Amino acid sequence: MAQMYINGELVDARSGKTIEVRNPATGEVVGTVPRGAASEVDAAVEAAAKAFPAWAALAPGKRAALMHAAAEKMKAAVPEIARLLTLEQGKPLAHAVLEASRVQENLEYYAGLADKIRGDYVPLEDPGKFGLTLRRPIGVVVAITPWNFPLTLMANKVCPALATGCTVVLKPASTTPLATQRAVEVINSAGLPPGVLNIVHGSGGEIGDALVSHKRVNKIAFTGQTETGKRIMKLAADNVTRVTLELGGSDPMIVCDDADLRRASAATAIGRFFNAGQACLAVKRVYVFASVAEEFMTKVSDRAQKEWKIGNGMVDGVKMGPLHTEQQRAEVEGQVADAVKRGATVLAGGTRPDAGDLGKGWFMEATVLRDVPEDSRMLTEEVFGPALPIVIVNDLDEAIAKANASVYGLGSSIWTKDLAKARRAMEQIEAGYTWVNDIQVAYDQLPFGGSKQSGFGKEHGLEALDGYLEKKSVVLATG
Ligand code: NAD
Repeated sequence: MAQMYINGELVDARSGKTIEVRNPATGEVVGTVPRGAASEVDAAVEAAAKAFPAWAALAPGKRAALMHAAAEKMKAAVPEIARLLTLEQGKPLAHAVLEASRVQENLEYYAGLADKIRGDYVPLEDPGKFGLTLRRPIGVVVAITPWNFPLTLMANKVCPALATGCTVVLKPASTTPLATQRAVEVINSAGLPPGVLNIVHGSGGEIGDALVSHKRVNKIAFTGQTETGKRIMKLAADNVTRVTLELGGSDPMIVCDDADLRRASAATAIGRFFNAGQACLAVKRVYVFASVAEEFMTKVSDRAQKEWKIGNGMVDGVKMGPLHTEQQRAEVEGQVADAVKRGATVLAGGTRPDAGDLGKGWFMEATVLRDVPEDSRMLTEEVFGPALPIVIVNDLDEAIAKANASVYGLGSSIWTKDLAKARRAMEQIEAGYTWVNDIQVAYDQLPFGGSKQSGFGKEHGLEALDGYLEKKSVVLATG
């Protein structure tokens, strides 16, 4: 049984209550964590608040050294933590290894930046005076993460927070707490002072409000659904707590008539079916020019049927695990059924695989649909599973207008050899990221975050640090 980590100690819930964690591929219980309550939230936030002044005052090079040491520990723990991730989340082990390695990489990236944070010298109009800007850590950060990439999304918050001198209370999704718990233990084992990095467990409904509304919390770094983000923003307003919100998306991909269809179809399939389609940056809508539509749809459907071997993530060669929960699969099936009812045609997949043991888990085939009507749920909602709607368009104007006809604005991509078309996409698609002729992979070096109802605030890159720092102006009179 796993525990929570508060103020440098492994603890159980005072109530003695626990949460069972189940494997979505088999339904079996793979572990338990304590079911935290408001009292544990309070203890964790108080510990983080107490640890903050000394951590913030520590020489940046010393914080960096601790983070580098934590990265070394994480590297050694990748096999163990990746296994936990596959068991609780369902993703193939090879993908879980990549994700666990991202924690180490992220620790190193932000450790490297810890001693490069600086303010400005500002000449003033008054003689004998000058101005300075100081960049100070914001304080206690509550980091709340979802179940689709628990480790990556934890690292995106914890690493810049620690580098700037903030202290953290982390709450992972209650269905994927095990890998994150171990990662927090491993990072702390590098010698972080007690209270700097804490983790509590519990469902959002039970402990979310206590975390978000706590008066000693200075910033909330949240990744999850847009509806949850709206609630958090409202609650945060009471204490004017800072928020960054990484929310839902419905990323459009435009495939022009001059696109490299082999590469575009490969990027579409990976973009849609990686992590069983449960990615914020998944390709969730495709707008393809009419003259290449038939060839493109055939290529994508072939890939869906032949390249995405479904199964238990612990089995070698499996490329797509189950959906994370039964409810998640029902949701995606409902969206597909709605599209079909409104006139869409299924080109690939569309059903549940049941060979062997697959009937025990929440599996769904890689699914492709054509002629999906604009008012269907697949185009108006986020599709968080392996089902791709394809829409045929006549030109770039129509493609961009349809791409922008969404409340979301996270990622986007275009496939074309024409620089003028690419430029229009970069400038006119309403999103936080546009890939041109490339697969939708986010880079550490580039800021990542949404526009519209996909949220605000940046993770990755130098910009992530800004979310954990506040600028203070100083006037110095020398006369
Ligand atoms: P969710 O909003 O249900 O849960 C996310 C986290 O918030 C969990 O830890 C949950 O326990 C917690 N939570 C739930 N209610 C809460 C409340 N009232 N107060 C405080 N915390 C609460 O999201 P999910 O279903 O776990 O994740 C999938 C969603 O996340 C999708 O919409 C996806 O697009 C989005 N996502 C976005 C990004 C991004 O970077 N923009 C990345 C990954 C996932």
